[in-house]
Amino acid sequence: MTVADDLRRIVTSSRVLDAPAELRTYAYDASFLTQLAPRPPDAVVIATATEDVSAVMRYANEQHVLVTPRGAASGQAAGAVALSGGIVLALNAMNRILDIDPANMQAFCEPGVVHANLNTALARNNLIFPPDPGSSRMATVGGMASTNAHGMRAVKYGPTSAWVLGMEVVLPNGEIIETGSVGSRAKQSSAGLELTKLIVGAEGTLGVITRLRLKLMAIPPSRAIVLGLFDVLEKAGEAVQAVFAAGVSPSAIEILDERSIQAINLYRPAMRLPSVEALILFEVDGNPPGVRWDAERICEVIGPLTSLTPEWSDEPARINALWEARSVVGAAVGTLRPGSNRAYCGEDICVPVARIPEALRAIQDISARYRIPIATYGHIGGGGLHPGHLIDGRDPDEIQRVLRVADEVHQLALRMGGTTTGEHGVGTARAPYMAQEHGPALEVMRRIKRALDPSGIMNPGVIFDPPSLPFELPLSGPVGEPALAAIDPG
Ligand SMILES: Cc1cc2nc3c(=O)[nH]c(=O)nc-3n(C[C@H](O)[C@H](O)[C@H](O)COP(=O)(O)OP(=O)(O)OC[C@H]3O[C@@H](n4cnc5c(N)ncnc54)[C@H](O)[C@@H]3O)c2cc1C
Repeated sequence: MTVADDLRRIVTSSRVLDAPAELRTYAYDASFLTQLAPRPPDAVVIATATEDVSAVMRYANEQHVLVTPRGAASGQAAGAVALSGGIVLALNAMNRILDIDPANMQAFCEPGVVHANLNTALARNNLIFPPDPGSSRMATVGGMASTNAHGMRAVKYGPTSAWVLGMEVVLPNGEIIETGSVGSRAKQSSAGLELTKLIVGAEGTLGVITRLRLKLMAIPPSRAIVLGLFDVLEKAGEAVQAVFAAGVSPSAIEILDERSIQAINLYRPAMRLPSVEALILFEVDGNPPGVRWDAERICEVIGPLTSLTPEWSDEPARINALWEARSVVGAAVGTLRPGSNRAYCGEDICVPVARIPEALRAIQDISARYRIPIATYGHIGGGGLHPGHLIDGRDPDEIQRVLRVADEVHQLALRMGGTTTGEHGVGTARAPYMAQEHGPALEVMRRIKRALDPSGIMNPGVIFDPPSLPFELPLSGPVGEPALAAIDPG
């Protein structure tokens, strides 16, 4: 009897896969790590109901079979792949929006709902679920909750955790619980430990999310965009600080470095973005007079720092064109080096906002030392940076070099008092840094994990104990030691 045979007897409405060709498609997510070490699971269950998720977990717990929950696998941290084998529990077919409750400004949905589809449905009621990852057309809300996804609007509206009011969760032993008070439609609560916040960001290590109660807001009636161009990187950093100090809270602040600008111009020549060291897009939203005031105020305070007079617009066509430039950058960076692959590793650091220019220069230095082109862009308002490394994926020497680049980028973030992941999560890829990043707090996390999952069957290798891989991850830092002593206060 195989695991798949057992599963076919216990899950009633769900599908069980075990054909090698089918399993192969579950061997990857969007991480570089799974490109290097793809690993098909032993079986896949395509869940369609909470009861089936519960039955799978009960079986797995009794038989000590490992389980990896999976949404759309757009994650870049090797979190949704069964790198140690076992069952992949696919939640993407549980994709119903169960209820939209405009009076109470909340929505109830299954975890497999794709983020963009949710917001399309909500827009009919003039409502929005504000977190907005660049992967909106792929990522599931279950995956977003599990990784505590942020996205561009997080600088004003906060991460996914700020918008999840409650969840139905299947624990590793199969028990089904509801967090955030049973049957509640209240928007706030102080009743007991915040289990919702514990499960959000747990990356599937503590249980499986099978339903979410999400907080919503009305779509802001107006928005505008400001374009700032900077000849000197450091002035871009100063501009962000000046905008906050002027009392403006933009709904997004995004930076593109020189290479990213170059990449966009190659990918979409019609954009004709000027060649400068940094470009920043500020978005403001709210009521129309307030939006105009905010946009003009931003132009006023950043004007002395920019190379050209800043431009602002509340014309939807101009706003969309500039956001289009930002949204294609992930794909566009490939044009900088024809035939190259983008290696998603060391791709998601977050540093203190005041140190962003310094971090960008340090990344350029790493790029030069390892001879790996890197185009960097990110959510400068919160300190999040996405370095895009371009390699020839067929060249083993370049693979080794880019893994060293990723390690240096992670160490840079920790040295600066930042984090190895601003929004994508730890997964397996960044698990080796967690002792360094958290110090003794990691042991407290382990104790929570052991209390909920004593057999250690849920998403092994993610956050806590990375599995052995068929290649060496070069780790230069004092792994296992807290980073605090090593922080350079700048
Ligand atoms: C082009 C691109 C742009 C991106 N932009 C952003 C961005 O702007 N901001 C951002 O934060 N991220 C971004 N990401 C990363 C990624 O899209 C997010 O991490 C997203 O939240 C993952 O959702 P998913 O459904 O693909 O989850 P998956 O990748 O399938 O899973 C991610 C983790 O969550 C766990 N998980 C998934 N579903 C469940 C569940 N129901 N219950 C328990 N655990 C579960 C998995 O085990 C895994 O550990 C981007 C990715 C790409 C490819």
